[in-house]
Amino acid sequence: MPEDQENGGFDVLIVGAGFAGLYALHRLRDQMGLSVRVIERAADVGGVWYWNRYPGARCDIDSYHYCYSFSDELEQSWSWSERFARQPEILRYLEHVADRFALRPDIQFNTAVVGADWDETAREWRVRTDRGERLSARYLVSAVGCLSEANIPDFEGLNEYAGRTWFTGRWPHDGVDFRGQRVGVIGTGATGLQIIPHLARQAAQLYVFQRTPTYAAPLGNYPLDEQANSALKADYPGMRQREWSSFAGVPFDNWQPSALAVPEAEREARYQQAWQKGGFELWLGSYMDILFDETANRTAADFVRRQIRARVNDPDVAETLCPQDYPYGTKRQPLEDGYFETYNRDNVTLVDLRRSPLRRFVASGIRTDDRLYVLDAVVFATGFDAFTGSLFRMDIRGRDGLRLEDAWAEGPRTLLGMATRGFPNLFIVTGPQSPSVLFNMPRSIEHDVDWIADCIGWMGRQGLDRIEPREQAQTEWVRHTDEVAHQTLMPTADSWYLGSNIPGKPRVCLVYLGGGPAFHQHCRDQAAGGYAGFETSARRTTPA
Ligand code: FAD
Ligand code: NAP
Repeated sequence: MPEDQENGGFDVLIVGAGFAGLYALHRLRDQMGLSVRVIERAADVGGVWYWNRYPGARCDIDSYHYCYSFSDELEQSWSWSERFARQPEILRYLEHVADRFALRPDIQFNTAVVGADWDETAREWRVRTDRGERLSARYLVSAVGCLSEANIPDFEGLNEYAGRTWFTGRWPHDGVDFRGQRVGVIGTGATGLQIIPHLARQAAQLYVFQRTPTYAAPLGNYPLDEQANSALKADYPGMRQREWSSFAGVPFDNWQPSALAVPEAEREARYQQAWQKGGFELWLGSYMDILFDETANRTAADFVRRQIRARVNDPDVAETLCPQDYPYGTKRQPLEDGYFETYNRDNVTLVDLRRSPLRRFVASGIRTDDRLYVLDAVVFATGFDAFTGSLFRMDIRGRDGLRLEDAWAEGPRTLLGMATRGFPNLFIVTGPQSPSVLFNMPRSIEHDVDWIADCIGWMGRQGLDRIEPREQAQTEWVRHTDEVAHQTLMPTADSWYLGSNIPGKPRVCLVYLGGGPAFHQHCRDQAAGGYAGFETSARRTTPA
């Protein structure tokens, strides 16, 4: 077993080699000259795009927005084949990044971090892996992702089920052949909507077990040819500026303040236009007040319900697919490509778990209140224990042995989503209470990594070796995040944004909803003010 001497003494240990870990390694190692090691559970780079190989997986933010912006050469060296790239293409892109910046030699694959303890005397993190190794570093950077810890609900009888089970977030590399099978799928979030049309085309019979219907909007995908790529490449500098200055990191050029301030015909035309354009245009590019005002929101919700009814032949099935009991856009907007038409196929049955709840698994399949569904395979598209799941799995213990899970028993407490009191020298990329997933994620990641790198650089220049948020500044950030969330309709729906998809998880908004530009300003202010919201010190000033 390698010992501390062999593996210790890193300036920075990074956990995770997805978009965040890869950029953090490049930034800290190549631009700052620090000694860095990345620990990654998977066998290769990619994060979400390594694990989520299910058929239909693709990004929901335009490919040319959903990529790094830190290198002109990288931007110019890569062409996207579709407006919304599929998982294999995004994974190839991240592999290309790893090759181009020679990242793999400093990434330890097939290794999970299972413990991280702050050593106050040495002012270092002591990290344990599932291979029994011990490593140490001055800073620990979590790049474990917001959506990397699977949620497979504790269904009664699941261990008795004799058929095959698959989780979308751990999809086999060589795919799954469902031909001739009776397949059940649980979950109709963004993942479910992507995989269901593919399952329907393969399976002999597909049963979709739906608990909550979704306000899905059309993807609006199209191929990007050489000419389109040349135009995009020429526009990257301007496009990046527009991304940074937009609320969600994806620019829309016709986002108007109020759906209620315009005549109905104009509003309908705008919704139709947004619907045709696809992507998040309806959600984050039509009218701002649909995010805040129930009446405005109802106009969008009614519009979406009308589209669903128009596409599904059976009126009962269409009605079951229409969300009724939560506002539009309060869960992440799923995008679909032929999802609703799937229910017009003879081999697809929608099972309404609201009408007849899922009771238990049995050896032959799933039993609901009113019948038994005999199934050869079940696909779980049941989502993630977002934000905190992967962090808690690392068993992080800070000052005086304080467990992160205990410190956050009533919900995360962070300063800017990137640091938390009691856990010195720990930084979290796109942590809870940052805009993270409600901003274009590669931009969120680049922002946070740059801010963390700048902070570490500043610490070095000041001769400091310990930093953690002040109680008052952290309390103020938690309060502000909560206050902003409650100005929106978001907390009125159950979703992973609120943690309410996981039984027992505190119901608090995990995302900063004030938008990217406001958040970035808070972060700039903190840095410009000498990190006044943080306690910093150098070992020489601390009593032995
Ligand atoms: P991840 O990609 O999740 O990488 C984290 C890595 O950390 C993983 O490889 C994991 O194995 C590793 N890890 C975790 N715990 C440990 C441990 N204890 N030890 C070692 N390694 C560990 N966002 C968008 O903005 N647009 C999109 O279109 C979009 N599509 C998505 C599609 C899917 C299917 C999912 C699940 C998410 C999507 N997201 C999207 C959100 C996505 O989380 C981010 O876009 C982005 O990929 C996150 O990158 P990351 O590096 O922060 O985390
Ligand atoms: P999700 O949005 O949390 O959806 C999980 C689904 O499983 C929901 O329909 C949920 O129903 C259902 N479910 C959970 N537990 C259940 C239970 N016990 N019984 C019955 N149904 C149950 O997860 P996701 O679809 O994986 O998406 C998570 C996030 O990942 C997305 O919001 C998005 O940010 C990202 N993502 C993006 C894309 C993309 O388009 N690029 C694709 C996939 C994922 P309830 O709603 O009733 O809880």
